[in-house]
Amino acid sequence: MEYRSGLLASPARNAFQNTRNRAAHLCGPLFLLWWRSLEPSGVELMTSKALVLFSGGQDSTVCLAWALERFESVETIGFDYGQRHRIELDARREVLCRLGKILPQGAGRLGQDHLLVLPELGAISDTALTRNAEIVMTDAGLPSTFVPGRNVIFLTYAAAIAYRRDISTLVGGMCETDYSGYPDCRNATLASLADSLSLAMDRKFMIETPLMYLDKAATWALGNDLGGAALVELIVEHTHTCYLGERSHRYSWGYGCGRCPACELRAKGFEKWQTEAN
Ligand code: ZN
Repeated sequence: MEYRSGLLASPARNAFQNTRNRAAHLCGPLFLLWWRSLEPSGVELMTSKALVLFSGGQDSTVCLAWALERFESVETIGFDYGQRHRIELDARREVLCRLGKILPQGAGRLGQDHLLVLPELGAISDTALTRNAEIVMTDAGLPSTFVPGRNVIFLTYAAAIAYRRDISTLVGGMCETDYSGYPDCRNATLASLADSLSLAMDRKFMIETPLMYLDKAATWALGNDLGGAALVELIVEHTHTCYLGERSHRYSWGYGCGRCPACELRAKGFEKWQTEAN
């Protein structure tokens, strides 16, 4: 498996894409077609299929919009592993349903959704994400929300599904910038996993991580670049991030408790993006 987050998610590449999107907005679709011919080589645009790890949160929603712009056919995969709050799975269905309608390319390209039930992951990972416990820092220096090896397990299942579906690209929202120290979000972990999966399946795949080097403000900006105000509104109203499953209070950045690490990260990113945009 070829790991290409460095190529596709580098700061230079994101700057390239942002400039392209702004210029296309000003000059129209013909300019966009010409500019796309200048995309760095090695990028498979509109020529293949992708499988997106989609949880119903902000990051994976932006990743799905990113994939829908680039691939002819996009399938999604999600995991029910006994999360503390079923609200995440409800948000997932809602966002999937709405995203296909608000992105011009969404309806035609959004394909099959795969939801895998993995109760064993909840059973073996005694964390604050899978049981009712206070979120604290552990002796290992990680938040108690850390589910050991979660992304390794998810990507392995995703690769197995992708193999069966003849899909060559996996897309995930892993990020080194705001990753709370989770070791399975690191670039090095994913590069190693990509090699292992490639050897194990004897099939060339690619893993794309478009958010790898973005902070949360840049993720909001990327969502706006990809789908404009409609996508930002969808993220605010329907994606779910709060670790506590809180949906009763709406902030400018969405619903949540406003205090857990996930809410704080999302709120700070939104505020920074708004400040930078104005
Ligand atoms: Zn929260």
